[in-house]
Amino acid sequence: MVEPLVVRPQGLYCPAGDFYIDPRGRVERALVTHAHSDHARPGHANYLVSETCLPLLKLRLGQEITAEGLPYGEIRRIGGAQVSFHPAGHILGSAQVRVEVGGRVWVVSGDYKPQPDRSCEAFELVKCDVFVSECTFGLPVYQWKEEGIIHQEINQWWSDNAQAGRPSLLFAYSLGKAQRVLRGLDPSIGPVFAHGAVHPFLPVYESSGVRFPKVQKPREGDGDWAGAMIVAPPAVEDAGWTRRFKGAQRGFASGWMAVRGARRRRNLDRGFVLSDHADWAGLLGVIEGTGAEEIKLTHGDGEPLARYLGERGIQASMLGGAPLRTEEE
Ligand SMILES: [Zn+2]
Ligand SMILES: [Zn+2]
Repeated sequence: MVEPLVVRPQGLYCPAGDFYIDPRGRVERALVTHAHSDHARPGHANYLVSETCLPLLKLRLGQEITAEGLPYGEIRRIGGAQVSFHPAGHILGSAQVRVEVGGRVWVVSGDYKPQPDRSCEAFELVKCDVFVSECTFGLPVYQWKEEGIIHQEINQWWSDNAQAGRPSLLFAYSLGKAQRVLRGLDPSIGPVFAHGAVHPFLPVYESSGVRFPKVQKPREGDGDWAGAMIVAPPAVEDAGWTRRFKGAQRGFASGWMAVRGARRRRNLDRGFVLSDHADWAGLLGVIEGTGAEEIKLTHGDGEPLARYLGERGIQASMLGGAPLRTEEE
């Protein structure tokens, strides 16, 4: 049997269509699942992404790249392969790539989250023979609460800090998580600010119908930050940039906040368990739902998940070579 996709050093390759999915290096044609840096890399000659991913990809890689956006669900013929993108529920524009060659179907999930989220398109379950699944949080201890509960926790924390006359400094990755956090803020509590790295993505989200409170850029130097919420990427956690927010309570919104000790190690006052990836139950539900006979795992240590699936008669293994790491969460 000829498989639609094979593993090459640059990444997953489709011989029938002569393209790669989320490749590294320099290739002629790259299909990219979403605009995070561990998937969307610079240097390729041609990019094909989902329609809503396109403006985000250009913000990340430059307006001059050669890239095309394909609406979700639309089938594109590339050589002997049929290709389509389907919502992955991870960040705005994130897609699972479905590749069909000679009646055999692979789906490459990229990163995904089946739980609903008000900042991006809802995950779509796609039937396939082989499912390439991420497993960033592939252990039973990872169990997400409904996002409305986490937004309430964040607003309560912000409100308590405001009443104590303190600013709230909340770290969240600049693309995806920051917008999701901003979307859930209650602006009646106080003014909302975001680091400059977060701002360029906001109009793209707004043009897809995502509503934000008024988000300001923090001015240089001292100001009155009491009661303010400031959302910033974790990259500036220890930088001088945060020094102006005197007396700030520091929080972090990430699935990794579910790991015991993670909050203390980073010297944070609060951790909010808000993830853009599937939790354990989410992974199992999707994997079973695809009806796939074979699962190939990426992103993280897939051994526990592979063993669990194997005991239930689903063949699962790590996708060729060293495990890939999740860079943004
Ligand atoms: Zn991602
Ligand atoms: Zn990723």
